[in-house]
Amino acid sequence: MKAILAAASAAILASASAMANNLDPNNPSGNTVDRFADIQVLRYTVPGFNELAPKQKLLIYYLTEAALQGRDILWDQNGRYNLQLRQTLESLYRGYKGDRRSPEFLAFEKYLKQVEFGNGPHHHYSADKFIPGFTREWFDNALSQAGLPAPSPEVSRLIFDPSFMAKRTNQAAGQDLILTSANNLYGPGVSQPEVEAYYAALKDTTDLTPVSYGLNSRLEKTPDGKLVENTYKVGGLYSPAIERIVENLRKAIPYAESKAQADVIRELIKFYETGDLATFDSYSIMWTEDTASQVDFINGFIESYGDPLGMTGNWESIVNFKNEAASHRTEVISQNAQWFEDHSPVDSRFRKPQVKGVSAKVINAAVLAGDSYPATPIGINLPNANWIRAAHGSKSVTIENITQAYDDASHGDGFNEEFVIDQPTRDLLDKYLFITDNLHTDLHECLGHGSGRLLPGVDPDALKAHGSTLEETRADLFALYYLADPKLLELGLLDNPDAYKAEYYKYMLNGLMTQLMRIEPGKDIEEAHMRNRALIARWVLEKGAPDKVVEMVKRDGKTFIQINDYQALRDLFGQLLAEIQRIKSEGDYPAGEKLVEEYAVKVDPALHKEVLDRYATLDIAPYKGFVNPVYTPVTDKDGNITDIKVTYEEDYLPQMFRYSSDYSPLTK
Ligand code: ZN
Repeated sequence: MKAILAAASAAILASASAMANNLDPNNPSGNTVDRFADIQVLRYTVPGFNELAPKQKLLIYYLTEAALQGRDILWDQNGRYNLQLRQTLESLYRGYKGDRRSPEFLAFEKYLKQVEFGNGPHHHYSADKFIPGFTREWFDNALSQAGLPAPSPEVSRLIFDPSFMAKRTNQAAGQDLILTSANNLYGPGVSQPEVEAYYAALKDTTDLTPVSYGLNSRLEKTPDGKLVENTYKVGGLYSPAIERIVENLRKAIPYAESKAQADVIRELIKFYETGDLATFDSYSIMWTEDTASQVDFINGFIESYGDPLGMTGNWESIVNFKNEAASHRTEVISQNAQWFEDHSPVDSRFRKPQVKGVSAKVINAAVLAGDSYPATPIGINLPNANWIRAAHGSKSVTIENITQAYDDASHGDGFNEEFVIDQPTRDLLDKYLFITDNLHTDLHECLGHGSGRLLPGVDPDALKAHGSTLEETRADLFALYYLADPKLLELGLLDNPDAYKAEYYKYMLNGLMTQLMRIEPGKDIEEAHMRNRALIARWVLEKGAPDKVVEMVKRDGKTFIQINDYQALRDLFGQLLAEIQRIKSEGDYPAGEKLVEEYAVKVDPALHKEVLDRYATLDIAPYKGFVNPVYTPVTDKDGNITDIKVTYEEDYLPQMFRYSSDYSPLTK
């Protein structure tokens, strides 16, 4: 599972100036590299890289190479014509013969940048297709003038026909979610009932260690209508890319920090070679149990948010290393995991008698790749398999150099002045939001996802299409509930009993109002994390209404969030946590569906318009992403790599073009 930064959170972090900079002052930290459409591209730095041992730097280097080699896989998973589209667009950008300042070319450049950001022609977050600001006639002419071939009919339709592959991942109830999703996780013509029946037949609900069916395969139809799984592996689907990943993982092995870590890498290679899901589970267990290594990585088919049925994993990789000083915070939380589990407001039948191996650390990312690039999570909790989490715990991280880059980028953007109700509340946010937002992420990742248990015999996928939303809701509520607990003061994680109010205010503001700026007028809320925030905020608003716990008030014609009773708000978070945990533990799909449909989906058009109008006056990009640093090997006179140099100069499109030329095993 991943935690992503709420847009309002990114903006509102602006004010936490006191915490703003512990980066190397010589590094150009957090600066804006590019700005287009609704996107701001930032640069992040990697504090501490230069201080690592040469062996660790080489380990990171080869893991980074393995990360970049998977880029094409994700592009193709996002859509079966995406790689063709990218080649066409990049060729035209390079070979264009006309005026590069003309409105048409600038519109084309914007579209190209959007497509690169989305790893395909759909928005990375809303999953809606981009609308080009240039005509088909201009495009076809420009290609022919540049001596380039005309695009395939599918690529043309992909760019110019808004109804063709309109949505990458469709979550709209009442439709066939597979047939109406443009992504390539299932073969053409495969329907949702077929997918559900296929996997229902495979699943043995009495198996206590079930593999994650469908995680690394595309379910396809043969010409005679039979369903077959085409597995992502060496010799299978995406083989050329997976071979390169494996080759670089092999090169990393001699530099592993321990035998245990070398074995983790070997097991991952075995998984890529066999495609065997039981091997993926044994790899995940070994990976979870290696908590001693400073350098760590994610590499594989991990998160399934891109699959409307939540089964197939999108390829991603993040290479990282532990930020020792900042990890103290999450270590304290982890060490006290059992206390938090025992005191949670959920029914004791749904609590874990023993919370095992919740490990947590603060890391700095060295590279972001696949589905974590250019937009990236700020926190990650893995593995996803419930039984592994129950038996072996999970690893949870907060990516500090990324949150730092967000924070650096958002200073003084006017957000708080526009949306926060009064000066005392703004002061509260100034003082405590950075730390409580980080703590929220820590609690969500370290404890929230790992807490609770299913009743015996309950299918972990019982909540079906609402599973992701309700799981994020559960983790967020766990974090919100404990942010206000005096235990955090006792543990030295906060120094003021009112500090939690900063995060409560921001959470309610975001869930009730400001996250709406990410939605186009007339559309519903679809993304799982956004639904979760709306569900929580609207539920507590409604349940607390008789006592005026939280109110939406008007000042000078503008809507503001006013919180009258923070303790009562905490109690409401606790009540909802108890209910969500019950739903999860019992697999109560109807109750889960009702909560999602009642609180998490619909948008009040008047409020939505107000938020968009007010937000538009600020010119803040609702979405942010990152360019990676560049790692260059330093060699001795015999050509041996002795060190790795990191630089932060590469710009957005040049990086994308370099990746397309140097790391594109599926297009060559
Ligand atoms: Zn989460």
